[in-house]
Amino acid sequence: MKTIIEPFKIKSVEPIRFTSKEERKKILIDAGYNPFLIHADDVLIDLLTDSGTSAMSAKQWAGIMEGDESYAGSKSFYRFESAVKNITGHQYIIPTHQGRAAEKILFSITGGEGKYIPNNTHFDTTRANIEFTGAEAVDLLNETGKHPEQKADFKGDMDIDALVKFIDETGVKNIPMVMLTITNNSGGGQPVSMKNIKEVRQICDKYGIPMFLDACRFAENAYFIKKREPGYSDKSIIEICREMFSYSDGATMSAKKDALVNIGGFLSLNNEELATKCRNLLIVTEGFPTYGGLAGRDLEAVAQGLEEVVDEHYLQYRIRSTEYLGEKLVANGVPIIEPPGGHAIYIDAKRFLSHIPPHQYPGQSIVCELYIDGGVRTVEIGSVMFGKYDKKTGELIPPPMELVRLAIPRRVYTQSHIDYVSEVVIEAFKNREKLKGMEITYEAPMLRHFTARFRPID
Ligand SMILES: *Cc1c(COP(=O)(O)O)cnc(C)c1O
Repeated sequence: MKTIIEPFKIKSVEPIRFTSKEERKKILIDAGYNPFLIHADDVLIDLLTDSGTSAMSAKQWAGIMEGDESYAGSKSFYRFESAVKNITGHQYIIPTHQGRAAEKILFSITGGEGKYIPNNTHFDTTRANIEFTGAEAVDLLNETGKHPEQKADFKGDMDIDALVKFIDETGVKNIPMVMLTITNNSGGGQPVSMKNIKEVRQICDKYGIPMFLDACRFAENAYFIKKREPGYSDKSIIEICREMFSYSDGATMSAKKDALVNIGGFLSLNNEELATKCRNLLIVTEGFPTYGGLAGRDLEAVAQGLEEVVDEHYLQYRIRSTEYLGEKLVANGVPIIEPPGGHAIYIDAKRFLSHIPPHQYPGQSIVCELYIDGGVRTVEIGSVMFGKYDKKTGELIPPPMELVRLAIPRRVYTQSHIDYVSEVVIEAFKNREKLKGMEITYEAPMLRHFTARFRPID
C-alpha cells in the first residue's frame, strides 16, 4: 500500500520560533516545571492538546466572513443547527462557547447532592462539573481498558456487568443519566464499539435512565467502528455516526475537537422539558438560544467543520498519523497504550520510568524532559491530573494509570514534524535512568494540573 498522505495542501503558514536547550531549561524553571505556564511562542511542537488547535479549511475561513451576526434568528444558527441535527438526529440543539459550558448547563439541572453519573471514563471537566453540583462522577471502564499493555479493538467500552451492578446498588432514582465518552479521552483515546453503545442503551431502557454521549470525538470513534467492528466496513462514516447517536437521548460536544474549529460546543437533546430548562439557563450564562456563547461566524465554521470531519480521506489520514507515531515509538521500545487511540499517543510513564513512584509524578518528569530536550509540549495524565489525597492520612491516592499524552492537533503538523517528535521521545527513553521524580510546591484545590508548580527531587 502507498503512503497515506495529508488530504490537503497548505495555503497559509505560521512560523515556528526556535529556542535552544539552555533557553528552554530556564523557561521551564520560570514556569514551575509546568508546561501549561509556558508561553506558546517558546514551544517548538505543541502537543499539549488537540482541543481548539485545528487548522481550519478555506471553506471554514470563508464561513467566518459569511457569518450572520444578528442577535436573534441568525442564518448562521440555522446552518449550525441543521449540521448538528444531520449528524445527531437530536431535536433540540443548544450552542455553547465550548464543551464544558454544555456540561455545566446539563449537570446544573440534572446533577446535585446524592446523584451519581456513570461513564466509561469521565473527562476532567466533565467530572469537575458533576462534582461541583455535589453529585458523584463514577468511572466504569472495562478491565482491558485499564491495562495499557493489553491490545484490544475497543478499549473504551463500558463494563456492562459493572453498570448493572452499580444501578442495582445505587437505585435508579439517583442516576439522572448514563454517559459514554466517544472516544474515551482520559482512557487513552480508545474507541467504544457500537455493540457496547447498544448494550448500554438496552440497560438504560430496562431501567428507564437517559443515555448521553460525550461526543467530542464522534467521527474518530465512527472511523474505528468502520475499520474494526464486524458489519460496518461497507457503511459510510455519516451512517455510523447517525447510528451511534440514535441510541442516545442527548449529547455534550466540544466543537474544538471533531468540529475542526478553535472555539465552540453544543448540547443536543431530545427531551423538550429538559431542553427548555437548559435554554433558560443558557440565557443566563451563555447567551440567547440562537447564538449561545458564540458569534455567528463561529457557528458557520462549526457547521462547515462538521461536514468536513466525516470525510473518510480526512479520517484515514487523521487516524493513520497518530498510529504512525505510535508505531515508531513501539519499534524503539517506548511503552505506550496499545493500540494507539485516535487523537493522541499516551506514553505509559509507569513502565517508562519504573524507578519513579506515582507520588513523585513520573509523567511530569517525562513532560519536562520532552520540553527541555526537544521543545515538545505534552501533558501529564496521571497523579498530577487525577490524584486525590486520603482525607485521613493526607497521602496521595494515585489513579490506575500514569500517562503522558502527546495529542495531535488536526491538520496542523506534517509527517516530518511527527518524525522529529518520535526522535525526541526515543532520546528521552534512552536517557530514562537520568530522569528525576518531581514534587509539588503549589497546587489549587480543583483542576490543579493547570496551575500547579513543581520542582525536581534530588
Ligand atoms: C475537551 C473535552 C471536554 C470539554 O470540552 P471543552 O471544549 O474543552 O470545554 C469534555 N469531554 C471530553 C471527552 C473532551 O475531550
